[in-house]
Amino acid sequence: MSEDFYSVLGVDRDASEEDIKRAYREKASEYHPDVSDDPNAEEKFKRIQEAKEVLLDDEKRRMYDQMGHERFQQADKRGATEGGGAGGMGGGPFGGGGAGGMNDIFEQFFGGGGGGRSGPQQGADLKTRLTVDLEDAYEGVTKQLTVARPERCPDCDGKGHPPEADARTCSACNGRGQQRTVRQTPLGRVQQTQTCQQCEGEGTVYSETCSTCRGDGQVRNEATLQVEVPAGIQSGQTLRMDGEGAPGEDGGRNGDLLVEIEVEDSEAFERNGDDLRYRMPISFPQAAFGDTVEVPTLDGAVEMDVPAGTQSGETFRLRNKGMPHLQRRGHGDLYVKVQVVTPESLNEEQREALEAFAEAGGEEIDVEQGFFEKLKNSF
Ligand SMILES: [Zn+2]
Ligand SMILES: [Zn+2]
Repeated sequence: MSEDFYSVLGVDRDASEEDIKRAYREKASEYHPDVSDDPNAEEKFKRIQEAKEVLLDDEKRRMYDQMGHERFQQADKRGATEGGGAGGMGGGPFGGGGAGGMNDIFEQFFGGGGGGRSGPQQGADLKTRLTVDLEDAYEGVTKQLTVARPERCPDCDGKGHPPEADARTCSACNGRGQQRTVRQTPLGRVQQTQTCQQCEGEGTVYSETCSTCRGDGQVRNEATLQVEVPAGIQSGQTLRMDGEGAPGEDGGRNGDLLVEIEVEDSEAFERNGDDLRYRMPISFPQAAFGDTVEVPTLDGAVEMDVPAGTQSGETFRLRNKGMPHLQRRGHGDLYVKVQVVTPESLNEEQREALEAFAEAGGEEIDVEQGFFEKLKNSF
């Protein structure tokens, strides 16, 4: 003969739902097999669970009150356990129970917690890409970005049903939001809890569905956003835009939008981290005599001294003329590689001057049969 559910929980027959929940929490903490020293803790804990299951379910409580303990127990043993049965242990979250504490232990212990009315849920993070050019990456830029993303349905405010729709308790799960299945296994009865299919864990069904979002509570929308791209950004880096991702559910916060940046290659500059490289063509006389040349940078042209006797391929460093460091002071450097350009054609005066130059250096050059001349002749 088992004990009356009300006395199991130590509450009066007219106890409110709150009273029952409170009593359940106290008793369950006391007799949880993981923490209790009582030799019959497991048995007692089972009965506490059983009592809570019945007394927190309006329908079952009414039947229990009408039938009395013995008859109810017998009926329950014969009855179906699917979805609404009174027996067994349930690890489902009890009303409003937040994260942490005994709840967590219960859910681990019983392998439950598979959905149901889980409270506010944060929306998903979304990802997109944005391309900027090197000048923008140098200066930092505000860019417009258009993304197609799910947003809270404006017509039903994300609820999935019109405000005037009638609500009733889901009959499939009796408003619990979860359905339990009990299987017989070699290790004994195993109970599984899953989100109710009919109400999708809400516990409530509505007479009408929102026609705009078909009950999803979300619609796809094109949103135009302003993205602040900071100076010094590099390809592959990601900007996080707080709250611009998918909408949260049941008052949960939105996810974030992750914007992966691609910095386009520049024709003039080659980037290596925060350093830049630039190829500077100079003439042979400039290389020989030395000169001051103008070098373009992303911050305007600067002057650079090319010393006399510079070789083609020599590299000069212009400090702090590279890309700005991301989120800290200072810049990388600009490496200028000079390239001595050989003229492809010479006028008469230049030719004579160069011949004289060669002669002065004691060189003998077969100028009539230069490489290009030979090439032409062979056609
Ligand atoms: Zn349901
Ligand atoms: Zn809607």
